[in-house]
This record gives sequence, structure tokens and C-alpha cells, in this order.
Amino acid sequence: MATPMGFELLKQLFKKPATNLFPIAYYPESVLDLLARVEKGEVKVNPPVEVPDKFRGKITYQREDCIGCKLCIKVCPSQAIEFLPEQKKIKIHIDHCIFCSQCNDICPKDCLHMSEEFLLADTDRGSPNLKVE
Ligand code: SF4
Ligand code: SF4
Repeated sequence: MATPMGFELLKQLFKKPATNLFPIAYYPESVLDLLARVEKGEVKVNPPVEVPDKFRGKITYQREDCIGCKLCIKVCPSQAIEFLPEQKKIKIHIDHCIFCSQCNDICPKDCLHMSEEFLLADTDRGSPNLKVE
């Protein structure tokens, strides 16, 4: 008997997957070996899928427009934003960010935006890649 769940299951069978085999189409025996082969051009890396509209990736900060009002710090639920008192500017710790966009929504100077960048994996929480200032 046809049920809404059965119908949904059938629909999913013919739908294009939302993800792809990223970064390569198989699980490598050695990641280091894989990276070396990618560098030599022996292995092709699959590009990531396109991000949807209004995607919330790594924050961008237009420092010169910031007036140091601290509203972004007040609304940030994960204490990811640090105030730099001497400069009256901010520093965002992406390793704490939960990509909620509240800082972006409240900023009166429109200097914070959610970018499309999402490849943020890092072995070091203090990496410059995870700081925005
Ligand atoms: S996006 Fe959310 S969690 Fe990230 S810095 Fe802004 S307010 Fe904080
Ligand atoms: S809300 Fe905007 S202007 Fe105010 S401190 Fe944050 S980034 Fe700067």
C-alpha cells in the first residue's frame, strides 16, 4: 500500500545526492601518500559542492568600518568575539563560532558578513586561518 513514507523513499532513490565524494572518490590507505600524489598531479581532487543561497560560512570583517560598539560581542552566544580595547576593534575566534550570524545581523556598520568559505578544518585552534581581525 502506498504511504507518504514509501512515496518519499521512492523519490529519494531517484534524487541527485546533495553531497559528492570529497575530496576524492575513495578512502586512501595513507593520507600523507595521497597528499603527495595530489601535489604531483597524479590524483584529481573532486571540488566541493556549491553552497546554497544564504549559506553561513566563515565570517568576514571590514575592520576599517568598525566603530567598536561591541554589539556583536553582546549578542554572540558562544563568546567567539574578543574586544581589542587599544584599537577599539574586534577579533573573531572561528574555533568558537557556531555560525549563527547574530553578530552579522546586529552590526550597525554592516562590517560583518557570512562568507561561503567552509573548509576550516585545522589541527591548531590558534591557527591564523581560524582568527578574523
Ligand atoms: S556567527 Fe554567531 S557564534 Fe559566530 S561570532 Fe557571530 S554571533 Fe558569535
Ligand atoms: S557590531 Fe559591528 S561596529 Fe560594532 S564592534 Fe561589532 S563589528 Fe564593530
